[in-house]
Amino acid sequence: MVKDTKFYDILGVSPDATDAQLKSAYRKGALKHHPDKNQHSAEAADKFKEISAAYEVLSDPQKRQIYDQYGEEGLEGGGGMGGGMAAEDLFAQFFGGGGGGFGGMFGGGARETGPKKARTIHHVHKVSLEDIYRGKVSKLALQKSVICSKCEGRGGKEGAVKTCAGCNGAGMKTMMRQMGPMIQRFQTVCPDCNGEGESIRDKDRCKQCNGKKTVIERKVLHVHVDKGVQSGTKIDFRGEGDQMPGVQPGDVSFEIEQKPHARFQRKGDDLFYHAEIDLLTALAGGAIYVEHLDDRWLTVEIMPGEVISPGEVKVIRGQGMPSYRHHDFGNLYIQFDVKFPEKINGPNDKEGFPTGMTPEQVKALESVLPPRMPQNIPPPDAMTEDYQLEKVDPMQEGNRAKSQLDEDDDEMGAGGERVQCASQ
Ligand SMILES: [Zn+2]
Ligand SMILES: [Zn+2]
Repeated sequence: MVKDTKFYDILGVSPDATDAQLKSAYRKGALKHHPDKNQHSAEAADKFKEISAAYEVLSDPQKRQIYDQYGEEGLEGGGGMGGGMAAEDLFAQFFGGGGGGFGGMFGGGARETGPKKARTIHHVHKVSLEDIYRGKVSKLALQKSVICSKCEGRGGKEGAVKTCAGCNGAGMKTMMRQMGPMIQRFQTVCPDCNGEGESIRDKDRCKQCNGKKTVIERKVLHVHVDKGVQSGTKIDFRGEGDQMPGVQPGDVSFEIEQKPHARFQRKGDDLFYHAEIDLLTALAGGAIYVEHLDDRWLTVEIMPGEVISPGEVKVIRGQGMPSYRHHDFGNLYIQFDVKFPEKINGPNDKEGFPTGMTPEQVKALESVLPPRMPQNIPPPDAMTEDYQLEKVDPMQEGNRAKSQLDEDDDEMGAGGERVQCASQ
């Protein structure tokens, strides 16, 4: 009888499975759920780890015995999840790959099979829209490890560096410990060499790197922010990353990120601008001024009688962003917000109070605006009552009136979506 069947269940075998059955179950499961085959699937990654952890325990007769007798708790610190070997290492050991053999296994895998390489340094480089409009070269300083020039990456005098006898150079040691009825097997950092796998006598230690083989160096890289480059573009410097003895130097990768802009929104090569104009300008014309990204101010003339409606979008062709590695420009789209007057007043009356529009003023408007739209006129025999509009009190009835306005907004949403001109 076993205490717990969880690990067997994960592998899909019975608790009396033979070593060969366990092996075949692991092989099938690990190949199926390997992260290289299931990119971006967290579920598969978890499953892969579970399968690996279960197999790591059950394939070791000693651990399997502890597990059968005491369950997972018996393995605390000696196996199970996160305890022992990493899932990838186990996989590599099982399938005989040197950590990188998987790519060839499934064909076309993304993993490089060449010599090991130091990890890539990633950095997000935030750039203003002005800089992207004009293009610029950013000088970015980087702290990186380089091979110590004094000891040429050995850490000490030639011949002074010895493989640690305590761990055979592995840096890790498997220890056994009796805890009551349980035998714990656990991996620990080799105490003789502090996990370095090597030992150097203090007097032979390199003075420049203190035996670390590498030193930190400051390096300035020139990152070309080309005109019109898109946010998210990566600029790579091959081999400019960290150096480590015995591996290829890593890369440095800068990702261009455009900072939000106060006046413009960018979409591809086009720019979007939000302009607020008054009703008089919308009807009778006038000028608006747009401060561009290169210190130019565009004077935009609205012709008298052109009539700009609220929300209307107009375009100035060729005044958008320069297109990346081409010589043309996108467009500048301007969305207009028309500010209506709160009230139109005629001349003041004798007491000095403003009157409404005078008949002459109404006539003047009627002479230039399209005629009133035909209304839904009641039949001659209908009963009619007269009413006048009142202002809505925002304190008292704001929400009641607003719910109706929101519905109006929704209706307009579809048209407004073509151009996004959110004010920031
Ligand atoms: Zn050195
Ligand atoms: Zn050691």
